[in-house]
Amino acid sequence: MDLSVNTKCVQAGYTPKNGEPRQVPIYQSTTFKYDTSEFMGKLFDLEESGYFYTRLQNPTNDLVAAKITALEGGAAGMLTSSGQAANFFALFNICENGSHIVSASTIYGGTFNLIAVTMKKMGIDVTFVSPDASEEEINAAFRPNTRAVFGETIANPALTVLDIEKFARCAHSHGVPLIVDNTFPTPVNCRPIEWGADIVTHSTTKYMDGHGTGVGGAIVDSGNFDWDAHAELFPGLTTPDESYHGITYSKKFGKGAFITKATAQLMRDFGSIQSPQNAFYLNLGLESLHVRMPRHCENGLALAEFLKEQPEVASVTFPHLKGDKYYDLAQKYMPNGGCGVVSFEIRGGRTAAESFMKKLRIIAIETHVADARSCCLNPATSTHRQLTDEQLAAAGIPAGLVRLSCGIEDKNDLIADVAQALKA
Ligand SMILES: *Cc1c(COP(=O)(O)O)cnc(C)c1O
Repeated sequence: MDLSVNTKCVQAGYTPKNGEPRQVPIYQSTTFKYDTSEFMGKLFDLEESGYFYTRLQNPTNDLVAAKITALEGGAAGMLTSSGQAANFFALFNICENGSHIVSASTIYGGTFNLIAVTMKKMGIDVTFVSPDASEEEINAAFRPNTRAVFGETIANPALTVLDIEKFARCAHSHGVPLIVDNTFPTPVNCRPIEWGADIVTHSTTKYMDGHGTGVGGAIVDSGNFDWDAHAELFPGLTTPDESYHGITYSKKFGKGAFITKATAQLMRDFGSIQSPQNAFYLNLGLESLHVRMPRHCENGLALAEFLKEQPEVASVTFPHLKGDKYYDLAQKYMPNGGCGVVSFEIRGGRTAAESFMKKLRIIAIETHVADARSCCLNPATSTHRQLTDEQLAAAGIPAGLVRLSCGIEDKNDLIADVAQALKA
């Protein structure tokens, strides 16, 4: 049966058999018991599927990953300990010393550091391109050693919208996959694979968990990218892995090749596994994701429309607000809404932003977004406080910028809170 994303949020991934627990069980076990060492040997050789050590795989995690895979319309998926680990694994699974990445420039700060600083130390180079670049400009960024293209559906915190089809065309014309971080819209509002993305990543810490409970990440592979057609670019997937008894992932696992390699090599060696307990909490969040997302979006739009009319506010950024630079792209890729994050600039710089935020009663000051509870942050006095006003302006972050993550409270209460704080 072809289920809607709403039903998948509740039921996908786990179908208990007769007499089994209704809720996903937490397999709180580091290891698994077998009757013979012959069978265990087959597990190690990837000849049989099964569990042997929770540093690599755990049944609870796999059930929840299967739900996220179903939501994204992918072929295979895995959970990771964080969104950072998800993006690192997704890239490092096909990049190595000497590789190059083309990435949209407006990405999450943590991912920017990961690619531009830490992966650079591993000998992996990057070229950042504006999400608004023309196909010609994007194509010019490719090199013979380019192995992946990366971008965020709705960028955190810039709120730019990625033209997924454009970036997919550029990636595919160079024989490499497009990896899209779909954290902000979630598969409820956008499924990048339907628009040509090959691999989707998530910080499940945000809307998927939705309650500020556990840090986590996920990777979903569409199974659509033909590694063997570009075998010379991806030897890790298309030639024998000597650390796994000469297995060739693309030959042996087909559409599961990418995720199997990431599990067998990267999880084995880096061990960035999500705890089964956190996977259980994540699944509780997923069960109501399709109910929460429309409310986040409704509240975000209501706040954006209100803020736009206020004399104390210099500008508002929200892709689904009429007149926003990304309005048309947002309508194309996310007709039902994107996310609940709004950013706006208060006149009067960081002093005005600070005194506004101090007066808020319901909306809390937090380094977090995409939670049931509304929260806000002034980058100039928190995440970007080491920058001068001039450096902030160059980075496109005015000192008076406030990033407001609308929760699922009543929108009239949120508007009233913002209104009284603006007046004060
Ligand atoms: C938060 C975030 C990340 C990093 O995720 P963590 O779970 O904090 O490691 C990556 N990408 C985006 C878009 C994010 O918002």
